[in-house]
Amino acid sequence: MAKEKEHINLAFIGHVDHGKSTLVGHLLLKAGAIAEQQLDDGENKFRFVMDKLGEERERGVTIDLAHQKFSTNKYDYTVVDCPGHRDFVKNMITGASQADAAVLVVDAKDGVMPQTKEHMFLSMTLGIKQIIIAINKMDMVDYAEDRFNEVKEEVGVLLKSIGRNPADVPFIPLSAFEGDNIKEKSDNMTWYKGGTLMEELDKLTPPEKPVDLPLRIPIQDVYSITGVGTVPVGRVETGIMKKGDNVIFLPSSNVNGATGEVKSIEMHHEQFEVAEPGDNIGFNVRGVGKNDIRRGDVAGHTNDAPTVAKEFTAQVVVLQHPGVITIGYTPVFHCHTSQTACTFLELTSKLDPATGQPQEGTPDFLKTGDAAIVQIKPTKPMVMEEAQKIPPMGRFAIRDMGQTVAAGLCLKVTS
Ligand code: GDP
Repeated sequence: MAKEKEHINLAFIGHVDHGKSTLVGHLLLKAGAIAEQQLDDGENKFRFVMDKLGEERERGVTIDLAHQKFSTNKYDYTVVDCPGHRDFVKNMITGASQADAAVLVVDAKDGVMPQTKEHMFLSMTLGIKQIIIAINKMDMVDYAEDRFNEVKEEVGVLLKSIGRNPADVPFIPLSAFEGDNIKEKSDNMTWYKGGTLMEELDKLTPPEKPVDLPLRIPIQDVYSITGVGTVPVGRVETGIMKKGDNVIFLPSSNVNGATGEVKSIEMHHEQFEVAEPGDNIGFNVRGVGKNDIRRGDVAGHTNDAPTVAKEFTAQVVVLQHPGVITIGYTPVFHCHTSQTACTFLELTSKLDPATGQPQEGTPDFLKTGDAAIVQIKPTKPMVMEEAQKIPPMGRFAIRDMGQTVAAGLCLKVTS
């Protein structure tokens, strides 16, 4: 059997109308993932793909995932939703479609706009370490090198503000609509000596499996299976679990957590000795019954147990809130598989959107677009860990009124 190619999840970010959907559509075409006949005619030709996804999503239809995948000789890629699509941030944060790299699309005519900044900042909050800058619509600025350099300079300032060295980041002048520098080198910009978008994508580093981190398995479901017993099901986020290991489930309905020895590990109806990050498994633990555990609990090794937070300090970004967030606000936090109402205890400081650094003084409220350091208290015990130590376990989306109103990560568990 041919070795599977390594896989990279890509997010396309950037200001509205700067050409994200067009770029994704054209990239899928160039990579052979869709056929020319599948495209519409006219101005919005290449947007078709993302529009279709958007419509299907609105109608609640299952999305044809094939439309979001493409391959090069080197890697398989999945395009995770673009911002603006409803559950983008929630999906990214809760892990369903965690992005390994982002392509920031900037219109060569407009340059940096508010959402360019916001998305750059968000990508940092979400821990996306690899970024490619696509300076788009070069056809509208006569493919001019001068204009490219001006926009490159503007974006460079933003990159520095989030602690990145622009010299380490690829900047590609392209036209999503005309197709310049997507797959083949463009004759319209002979002054550009760097790689095309597809070449630069192939220089990305695929994510490493976090095998060296502590074991964490957020529980999605708990089944009772005749002849086996209680079978919690979940995806291994970090670490390695072997048969015979001693594990603990927290918070659990038992005060000190439910513990036992792993008796069996199953995936796709096959038995395994070991489970590793990315594996969706069912497993059975001696002595742990159906009433001891539930969705939202997290399994880890007893000697390196998940952290149950009574309070924590977090960094949040308010994405779209119709009003303001004040002390006492108690929306639902979606973190790994748990959904827990949590209260904003304290608004500690706002972060400067340009630098990401805390500003002086405590804010009275937070509104859409604000980023801040806050103190949070879950209304019941939940596993929450420092995102710097165990990234997937420390990221959360805040949902209210049927939408994702904010997103964030845990900086420190305080009690
Ligand atoms: P999004 O909101 O970032 O997804 O932007 P769209 O992909 O919807 O593009 C917004 C508009 O810009 C559409 O009318 C596109 O046809 C147009 N557009 C996108 N890329 C280019 C480009 O490279 N050149 C030109 N001339 N127009 C473009």
